[in-house]
Amino acid sequence: MNRVIAIDGPSGSGKSTVARCLGIKLGFLHVDSGALYRIMTWQALQHQVDTQSEAALAAFAPQVDVSFSVRDGAVVYAVQGVEPGDCIRTPEINQHASPVAKAPAVRTRVTNWLRDLRQLGDLVVEGRDIGSVVFPDTPARFYLDAAPEERARRRHTEENQKGIAAQTPEAVLASLLNRDRIDSSRATAPLKIADGAMVLDTTALSIEQVVQAVYANLPAAWRAS
Ligand code: C5P
Repeated sequence: MNRVIAIDGPSGSGKSTVARCLGIKLGFLHVDSGALYRIMTWQALQHQVDTQSEAALAAFAPQVDVSFSVRDGAVVYAVQGVEPGDCIRTPEINQHASPVAKAPAVRTRVTNWLRDLRQLGDLVVEGRDIGSVVFPDTPARFYLDAAPEERARRRHTEENQKGIAAQTPEAVLASLLNRDRIDSSRATAPLKIADGAMVLDTTALSIEQVVQAVYANLPAAWRAS
């Protein structure tokens, strides 16, 4: 069975960068599970599906087809041959992603995709429920967190660098806190610390420090290989 490193936490906690760096360091494929929920959201909006309706999402979720391939150490996604790129990172998608991700049918579809990806190789998977629900059998479970203001600052800088949106830092913080609230309080697979997960507060840590801390706490045999 291929190995999985689960990295969970709220947005802006450093998951993506840390997961990418660890993947390179260990030769594990990087999997961004949030991008799959964003793709579901993007597709729902394109097909005028009511993102607040669990019934509408339950009917729609099985119809979304995503194809998977490996490029530069990461799993990349396409819908009908189109890679979504930054169009899944807009304020509109941010606003609808958590309501869509609440729907049990959407979660089932994404969870099944993620479990199937394990056939591709060893994985480092970032998300909200990776250690608690998707791969609870993995011994490598981590939960990253940071102060909300710092998480918003990172997201704002990232969005500016990508030229995605001209949101104020206050608007980024409000959107992020709203997603945290929905993600933590939903009935199915809420954002939470998985049993036995190592918790890291990244507020004052550099990426390299977080990568080192995660690396040092992997099963010893994984570090040696
Ligand atoms: O990680 P990212 O911010 O791209 O995730 C977008 C949204 O997808 C989150 O706000 C959350 O609602 C949802 N998500 C989830 N479970 C995951 C990953 C993301 O519910 N494993």
